[in-house]
Amino acid sequence: MNVVEGNGARIPAIGLGTWELRGRTCARIVEQALRLGYRHIDTAQIYDNEREVGEGLRASGIKRDDVFLTTKVWTTHFMAKDLERSAKESLARLRMAEVDLLLLHWPHPHVPLAETLGALARVKQAGLARHIGVSNFNVALIEEAVAACPEPLACDQVEYHPYLSQADVIEACARHGMAFVAYSPIAKGRVKGDRALARIGDRYRKTAAQVCLRWLVQQNVSAIPRTSKLERLQENLDIFDFELSDEDMREISAIGRAAAR
Ligand code: NDP
Repeated sequence: MNVVEGNGARIPAIGLGTWELRGRTCARIVEQALRLGYRHIDTAQIYDNEREVGEGLRASGIKRDDVFLTTKVWTTHFMAKDLERSAKESLARLRMAEVDLLLLHWPHPHVPLAETLGALARVKQAGLARHIGVSNFNVALIEEAVAACPEPLACDQVEYHPYLSQADVIEACARHGMAFVAYSPIAKGRVKGDRALARIGDRYRKTAAQVCLRWLVQQNVSAIPRTSKLERLQENLDIFDFELSDEDMREISAIGRAAAR
């Protein structure tokens, strides 16, 4: 599968989002996704499913080293004294020795960013996370984080889809060698009914969701669509056998610019 590079991290272009997947459903979907060929799973401490993500991974029979696993620290653990303990608790729930990527889930209005980033860097240095990064950071926060963090940041994970332009954040990530990871990449399912995407998809025999995901990966963005349905797992992965024309790319990008006006 294509990968998106971010300061040494090689992040598979499509990953499985797991927000709101819980219990047996979560474990089963993670297992099926890996069997179908997904090699990137996105979870978070706050999703309350790290245990089931770990179970699904082990049940799949895919080697741990072949899977890129991201989790995130919630803001209640951003003080230096809490962050490492929190990361260790995530690893205990996952039953793993390390994650591939550990993210700060949201910026915190009160805990100084340098304190949290220092603690995050120590988690990496202790071998608990191969890479570290941030999520929901705007351009100003990216600049502040890059200047303050003792270790390189692999990515910023941000909401991005055709209805939400993120050109400035994408540019800031590129400037600092960071990968851009798109969450809610199919706008929480909204793209399904999009006529412009469906019309483009007809030309390639692809669905609107597939066109949307292809538009993201053709921008060198990693996307982490979530589904609880087996057939959609396959659909969301099946985007590497066609290429959108420059004109299609421009038309889809214009949807977001129009929405911003
Ligand atoms: P998505 O954009 O991935 O959309 C998920 C919704 O779309 C579900 O309701 C799903 O329904 C539906 N869907 C999935 N595939 C298709 C398809 N091919 N056609 C039509 N509908 C489809 O939304 P999320 O908000 O879940 O974002 C994805 C992931 O990003 C999250 O799961 C999480 O891992 C991460 N995230 C990170 C955040 C952060 O702060 N860092 C915030 C929000 C999300 P069904 O299950 O019925 O298929």
